[in-house]
Amino acid sequence: MTHPNIFSRQTLVAQALGHVDPATGALVPPIHLATTYIRDTDNQYRSGYIYGRPDNATVREAEAIIAMLEGAAAALVLGSGMSAAIAVFMALRPGDHVLVPTVMYWSLRNWLINDAVEWGLKVELVDTTDLTGLRAAIRPGETKLIWLETPSNPMWTVSDIAAIAAIAHEAGAKLAVDSTCATPMLTQPLALGADIVMHSATKYLNGHSDVIAGALATAHLDEFWTRIERVRRNFGQILGPLEAYLLIRGMRTLPLRVVAASAGAMELALRFSNHAGVAEVLYPGLPTHPQHSLAKRQMHGGYGGMLSIRLRGGEAAAVKAAANVRLWKRATSLGGVESLIEHRASIEGAGSPCPPDLLRLSVGIESVDDLYCDLDQAVALAKQ
Ligand SMILES: *Cc1c(COP(=O)(O)O)cnc(C)c1O
Repeated sequence: MTHPNIFSRQTLVAQALGHVDPATGALVPPIHLATTYIRDTDNQYRSGYIYGRPDNATVREAEAIIAMLEGAAAALVLGSGMSAAIAVFMALRPGDHVLVPTVMYWSLRNWLINDAVEWGLKVELVDTTDLTGLRAAIRPGETKLIWLETPSNPMWTVSDIAAIAAIAHEAGAKLAVDSTCATPMLTQPLALGADIVMHSATKYLNGHSDVIAGALATAHLDEFWTRIERVRRNFGQILGPLEAYLLIRGMRTLPLRVVAASAGAMELALRFSNHAGVAEVLYPGLPTHPQHSLAKRQMHGGYGGMLSIRLRGGEAAAVKAAANVRLWKRATSLGGVESLIEHRASIEGAGSPCPPDLLRLSVGIESVDDLYCDLDQAVALAKQ
């Protein structure tokens, strides 16, 4: 499959890299369900496929698209975003020291601080927006990985990928970036110096809240990547072919969905910044955001579809506002075409850095006026 780089990523992804099925001429790729493949008479596998656990043709097509979107040497798709992230940590060795953000996706943070340490990783939480503190936390010869999430859940702080890549490489460590919320359209972590980029493909890549999937993409075909491939193969974490097909179908419209969600989020962030019931809006696109100038440099074409609002009425008002929405869907997850609202502190529980007055908003592609009016009435009701 050729994809000359004269075409934009939007063009290439819309056509799923120009796929035409050689057997039938179909423009839509077939779903390869086979788990096993015929051997040649001399017992070779010249088709390149042996068995379904390491590899699958539909999965390879999804991976080729993600590699193109991230400007990567290769990509892997896995059964979930969590399995993608955990595959990276499992490719390290016992005793390795890793720096991970204090503000990050809650389930991964929990796995790191509760389970990864039992496997022998030395996990240290740092504020990745503070480069001086981050540099001081490096243990020369021992720190093997820095993990970033930018913008980060659910506070939407932004970390400097290029500066942190330099810090990591100087120390002989790798940099991996959870770029789920930035999406490949708004930030290109590998071009900024990161070694690995991770996505919960459940979110924007698929975009329709009907697939659980994860993705990794690498800048280099090195020993670390080979170890990650082994983790996926041996743990059986490959994405199923039906899900890979749905992911390919979803990704075709990724650029349009991301533009719409980012524009909607920006508009809502501005409107709620001047709202009597709202104490603070957390969104990297606002000039008042602490890392706005970094976000402006690092993100292109928008600041993403995720924002949070903190209500003046505190936790009770936040819970009540979420209870009173009619259009927004009260649900976890993000990055779908439908807008979601969530009181994060209720699920993150004790030890969460998430303030109790915070509502996390995942902006979909509905009319921004409809979204504003619905949330405006819900916040007004919460004040009573
Ligand atoms: C959802 C999410 C994950 C986990 O992905 P799953 O597909 O749910 O396993 C990781 N990181 C971020 C930023 C997420 O939003």
